[in-house]
Amino acid sequence: MKALDELTFDNRFARLGDAFSTHVLPEPLDEPRLVVASKAAMALLDLDPAVAETSVFAELFGGHKLWAEAEPRAMVYSGHQFGGYTPQLGDGRGLLLGEVYNEAGEHWDLHLKGAGMTPYSRMGDGRAVLRSSIREFLASEALHALGIPTSRALCVIGSSTPVWREKQERGAMVLRLAHSHIRFGHFEYFYYTKKSEQQAELAEHVLNLHYPECREQPEPYLAMFREIVERNAEMIAKWQAYGFCHGVMNTDNMSILGITFDFGPFAFLDDFDAHFICNHSDHEGRYSFSNQVPIGQWNLSALAQALTPFISVDALKEALGLYLPLYQAHYLDLMRRRLGLTTAEDADQQLVERLLKLMQNSGVDYTLFLRHLGDEPAALAVARLRDDFVDLAGFDAWAEQYKARVARDGDYTQEQRRERMHAVNPLYILRNYLAQNAIAAAESGDYSEVRRLHDVLTRPFEEQAGMEQYAQRPPDWGKHLEISCSS
Ligand code: AMP
Ligand code: MG
Repeated sequence: MKALDELTFDNRFARLGDAFSTHVLPEPLDEPRLVVASKAAMALLDLDPAVAETSVFAELFGGHKLWAEAEPRAMVYSGHQFGGYTPQLGDGRGLLLGEVYNEAGEHWDLHLKGAGMTPYSRMGDGRAVLRSSIREFLASEALHALGIPTSRALCVIGSSTPVWREKQERGAMVLRLAHSHIRFGHFEYFYYTKKSEQQAELAEHVLNLHYPECREQPEPYLAMFREIVERNAEMIAKWQAYGFCHGVMNTDNMSILGITFDFGPFAFLDDFDAHFICNHSDHEGRYSFSNQVPIGQWNLSALAQALTPFISVDALKEALGLYLPLYQAHYLDLMRRRLGLTTAEDADQQLVERLLKLMQNSGVDYTLFLRHLGDEPAALAVARLRDDFVDLAGFDAWAEQYKARVARDGDYTQEQRRERMHAVNPLYILRNYLAQNAIAAAESGDYSEVRRLHDVLTRPFEEQAGMEQYAQRPPDWGKHLEISCSS
């Protein structure tokens, strides 16, 4: 266990120099205070969880203090936003404080979001509000607990600093952890500005630090791109299987590591809705729930274009061709497991699709249906869940097909079935209304709810005594919350 001043830095990205990032100091928040910290994320840095309660912790992550070895940098990148290319973006309000390596030898970027203006702030104020910082914190830690690759969050620091959005709010900072903060948009920036020397340096940096095994391949860059395609296919399959809607899949928000990254107006589905759009400024539904699958491929094509100096177009196309079949295989595998199936049959895809269509038409709660399907033997479970459906004849036909499929699946006890299904079907997910309750309390200075919700979400598969209220469908007021896109 380490104290805060015992972290070991090795700032590899900063060493790439000024063509890649700019030195900027964090702008401190007034009266910084701890809102919530993740013990699990602290453990990644070998930090003693007790240090979260110290004033130095709030000062460090509220922008007041800095380690002598930290080298705060704002990174430059660009990206395709809603399909159109923006030639220059960059860290407009976040700073890469430095890279820390832990006792296991893993490197973690410390990224402080809401740390003030940078050369890339454009029209923004460099700040993040408490509301969006809490949402990013909860989402990162909740996705991780579900087994979905994601950036992590160490803590949220609140303050008395006023920040203007639609109304006056308070500034906050979230300390994000990831093995890298390099985005698809980094490659696009150097490609479209024709800075070929720096682009080669960036590619070498990513290959050496994050995809070293690809060095062994005859074409290391191609192997790296293939790996990125594979990781994206798997990540998006997990989003779709667990009902996660990212909301802003611009290429500047896509991590080169294939992890969920840069949380904005994200949402987990309550009722199943393939057409759900969580981002209210996404008028055409470009990033609707079901569009995430083709958009994943579109984004990879944008990255491929930026890699044409290193890899032949034919090879890139071939690698891109891996995406959809891999996505489908991962998705179907996850959905089979969520349905409690241990074997594969050709008709399983249709079984899943029919269920989703029925849920869509009846507005059935996606998470709770799958959780309760494992509570009891298949015949009893479907009989109990039947009441949630409007098209009873349709549901009965599906239930017959499902029961027959379960009967063919294997010889196991209900106890085994329940255990297996509950291990992949969460009881607790980060519903928008739950986040909203925690945010409302935190905005009035009470952080107990955000801490409790975080705690519940770190063990989503485990029934927790006294936490029934977190495993309910949303109340009417919480069903169609408009989550502000300003953050
Ligand atoms: P996002 O939609 O949060 O991924 O942000 C897109 C771009 O806008 C990034 O370059 C951000 O750094 C920048 N940005 C977002 N909000 C602000 C803000 N309040 N101040 C400065 N830059 C911002
Ligand atoms: Mg972003």
